Amino acid sequence: MNCVFCEILAGRIPASFVYRDERVAAFMDIQPVNAGHVLIVPVAHAASLEEVSERDGAAMLSVAQRLAGALKASGIRCEGVNLFLANGEAAGQEVSHVHLHVFPRFVEDGFGLKFPPNYSRKPSRRALEEDAEAIRQVLK
Ligand code: AMP
Repeated sequence: MNCVFCEILAGRIPASFVYRDERVAAFMDIQPVNAGHVLIVPVAHAASLEEVSERDGAAMLSVAQRLAGALKASGIRCEGVNLFLANGEAAGQEVSHVHLHVFPRFVEDGFGLKFPPNYSRKPSRRALEEDAEAIRQVLK
């Protein structure tokens, strides 16, 4: 398998680690949105959120929580923190080893999300209820 994050975890590609335990690891993103941008990955390869075990997923979020605090205390410019996870190519996932981005934000740092043109039109309660029901039906 040709997975860049597995190669990093195996020590065959250089990375700057900030955390590692038996379940998860965190290292600096090679192309940061802002300085301090960290990626959290499960040690066991999982391509997507659907594949990652619930325990590894929970461990990723737990480390993200700690990292958010660490970023604020680190001296790196950090007025706020974003967590971002692209699950699937259509969502912007480029590396097929699930990873949670944790990166510092500050006012006017130039980063932003682009919303679709119809975003300002709120759906009816009925439409929201229909979507909620469709999700409830399959939620495990
Ligand atoms: P995504 O678009 O959510 O799949 O993000 C993939 C992230 O992996 C990007 O932010 C890349 O900069 C980062 N990345 C790719 N290769 C490496 C690498 N060798 N070391 C650290 N980060 C990497």
